[in-house]
Amino acid sequence: AMDHDLAEAWLRAAAAAVEQREEELTALDGAIGDGDHGSNLRRGFTAVTELLDGLEPGLPPGTLLTRAGSTLISKVGGAAGPLYGSALRAAGSALPEPTADLTDLAAGLRAGLSQVCKLGGAQVGDKTMVDAFEPAVAALERAAFDGFTLREASALAAEAAEAGARSTVPLVARKGRASYLGPRSAGHQDPGATSTALLFAALARVAG
Ligand code: ADP
Ligand code: MG
Ligand code: MG
Repeated sequence: AMDHDLAEAWLRAAAAAVEQREEELTALDGAIGDGDHGSNLRRGFTAVTELLDGLEPGLPPGTLLTRAGSTLISKVGGAAGPLYGSALRAAGSALPEPTADLTDLAAGLRAGLSQVCKLGGAQVGDKTMVDAFEPAVAALERAAFDGFTLREASALAAEAAEAGARSTVPLVARKGRASYLGPRSAGHQDPGATSTALLFAALARVAG
């Protein structure tokens, strides 16, 4: 189940992965954006790590996600930080206390994704984080329906997010800075979809 410890482990694993892959994310954003995606997320997740270091023990997982989301919103200037932050806040407030099972987690992350779509106006196929986020949530929902464990479901979600991120390569961006390039945005993987895949891979590692 998603309890305090798993939520904390996920956020810490996400922070470590962002730090490790900062340059790669920034290079992807350099190709079709303004080259700050890696540094934006690193700044945000460093602040999340500091938040976790100072939290009182035993908070419900939803509260951890909500507070991490608020931290991302306040510390990150670009598009992706506030979008991820809003997703975490929506997911966190949807999770029951004191623990969330796989069905709850899938529903919470669906609420998070809906918030991203509402705020950013993107749909699948617009070459954004939504292209990785949507298939990952759909995989969690299917896995919950089929009675899989959280561990199995997270692995499937990570695979789906990774495939979704790769699927952005040929697409023309219709949202965000990359859309300014028009057809020249094709041929590059979207940085936000790539970081979404990284966040689901982090979940799969800690749930495994
Ligand atoms: P900025 O573009 O403001 O510099 P980042 O570089 O941190 O912000 O993030 C860029 C990523 O944010 C894109 O690769 C894309 O996945 C995501 N993104 C940008 N605009 C939107 C949007 N309207 N809806 C969903 N995702 C978006
Ligand atoms: Mg950028
Ligand atoms: Mg920027």
